[in-house]
Amino acid sequence: MNEIQTIEGNPVRKEVEKMISENDYEGLIFKAAELHGHLCNYLAYGVMAGCIAVKELGVKSTGMEEVIAICETNNCFSDGVQMVTGCSFGNNALIYKDVGKTAFTLTRRDGKGIRIILDAEFEDSREMEYPEAYELWNRLIVKGEQGSPEEYGRMMQLFHEMSLKELYKPIDKMFKIEKIKVDLPPPSVMALSVKCAICGENIMETKARVKNGQTVCLPCANQEKYILDSTGISID
Ligand SMILES: [Zn+2]
Ligand SMILES: [Zn+2]
Repeated sequence: MNEIQTIEGNPVRKEVEKMISENDYEGLIFKAAELHGHLCNYLAYGVMAGCIAVKELGVKSTGMEEVIAICETNNCFSDGVQMVTGCSFGNNALIYKDVGKTAFTLTRRDGKGIRIILDAEFEDSREMEYPEAYELWNRLIVKGEQGSPEEYGRMMQLFHEMSLKELYKPIDKMFKIEKIKVDLPPPSVMALSVKCAICGENIMETKARVKNGQTVCLPCANQEKYILDSTGISID
């Protein structure tokens, strides 16, 4: 993939790379919010952690698995990480570990990696610093109470404002950073498509099953399959 990686970096990520080189967290969080849909403090932590890791490893993504992110949560943090590192769900450079920690590792193919974890004390102290935002969050989201449209609007506004303030908090209080060696799985193999004999839809060959001598997809085979939803990975 060297031919598309110019000395100035990856042309399709020029804007993001410029922001990373300038530590422009604010620019990056608005970029990440195009994907994420709103601004919040965990998006801010993901953007910052992504930026620190990319600079520490000295890498630039071409979106072709030469840099891999291993994300340990499916909360807002992961969208910041994906945007800044360029390692995404769709380009196979994202590995998801379903352990529910606001943490991620960025690693090169040779296994040289850096793991960044949101500091527990820092995280626990957010509620004291932003009491109104967390009061609304606990009531409307955690307890699921029916709030007024004004209350939802106020909550979103407070988290938006909070995320922009968090971008200027000291990194050493916010994160724990470890240099680690990572054992990576081999790069993805492009599987051929085969047709399901029952529904007629194409499927990746590796996901096809044989039922009564016919090639079928998992739903038509009535087989259990993995699903990733807001609760994490489970068997569907
Ligand atoms: Zn969010
Ligand atoms: Zn089928």
